[in-house]
Amino acid sequence: MSEQSSRELLDACVHCGFCLPACPTYRLWGEEMDSPRGRIQLMDMVERGEAPVAGAVATHLDRCLGCLACVPACPSGVRYDLLIERARSTRRAQAPRGPRARAVDAALFALVSRPRLLRALSWPLVIGIRPSALAPRPSARDLRAAPPDHTRARGEPRMSVALLAGCVQRVYFGRVNRAAVRALADRGCEVAVPPAQGCCGALHLHAGRDREARRLAEATIAALDGHDRVVVTAAGCGSAMKGYGDLLGTERAATFAARVRDVTELLAELPPAAPPQSRPRRIVYQDACHLLHGQGVRDQPRELLRALPGAELIEIEDAGLCCGSAGTYNLLQPEAARELGDRKARAILAARPDVVATANPGCALQLAAALRRMGRADLPIVHPAELLVM
Ligand code: SF4
Ligand code: SF4
Repeated sequence: MSEQSSRELLDACVHCGFCLPACPTYRLWGEEMDSPRGRIQLMDMVERGEAPVAGAVATHLDRCLGCLACVPACPSGVRYDLLIERARSTRRAQAPRGPRARAVDAALFALVSRPRLLRALSWPLVIGIRPSALAPRPSARDLRAAPPDHTRARGEPRMSVALLAGCVQRVYFGRVNRAAVRALADRGCEVAVPPAQGCCGALHLHAGRDREARRLAEATIAALDGHDRVVVTAAGCGSAMKGYGDLLGTERAATFAARVRDVTELLAELPPAAPPQSRPRRIVYQDACHLLHGQGVRDQPRELLRALPGAELIEIEDAGLCCGSAGTYNLLQPEAARELGDRKARAILAARPDVVATANPGCALQLAAALRRMGRADLPIVHPAELLVM
């Protein structure tokens, strides 16, 4: 974990309130305790021993999406990302959640660490048997086909890249990883997808399971180290992996973290061997919070999409506002997640796109569910890398 003490992190907040308009839960309810400033105040009271974590404090902390919109909005550089991770860890230790949340947690964390089991249990989804509206709708090919362990660069090799296959990504969005590998190879990357890799620990970290997150981070470094770049196709995973230096506090982890790139970041640096075909289409790019706020990656995916011949990139209202997916948030806080999902879907539909591009599997599932509610299940939702190779 970061060297800074929780007291130092908390004292950095000067209560100016500049972060409030950026916060989705404050925008939903207008409640101070559901704003970043209010939550920091609650964490401060817990730290001083003036309030227990259980009860009201836990309620307001649980309502935080962890979207990190408050981090770049803060002129004082408050590390809310570190504060909420620590607060979640304390909440888990001192005030365990109720049975429903614990059951969701137990099932989810058992599955994400075991992609083979997740894949085996997911075949009913292919034929339309779904336990919830948020469940993915993978094709048989998605479940079956993984990218090859090694893909040669097209033309002169420029660099070697290791791809994180991800847990949800590799099982339900195999097409995204395949497209990423193809786009990278087209731009001169030798791409390895080491089979020994597992879960990166992002979901564990965001849920306050820091011991497991550290163990998974160490295993991920061992599996993917030794390449010029480590490429990630899921924003939440990339955000966690760029923080491995803080999480593990070792030089090896910091060096590894410095090589991690979202696939759109790396693709934007490398011109393609041959320009893609011209296909006129209106594209909405939906920012994933852990890419925009967590990694500061805003322009690169837009540049990639704008460069597609015939593409028109349309900005939507409140582009930086979370869609309500946020890891397990849409399972544990369904009403707030649904309201944010509906707002995002309305903003997208107002732009009349032919296709929606987003760089995180959770956002893709959340948007698909919201668009289905509005009768627009037909609107394709893809990863930007897929548009590059379509
Ligand atoms: S977190 Fe930053 S922006 Fe928000 S109240 Fe504190 S100092 Fe101001
Ligand atoms: S992480 Fe998102 S939801 Fe949580 S306080 Fe910050 S802006 Fe609000």
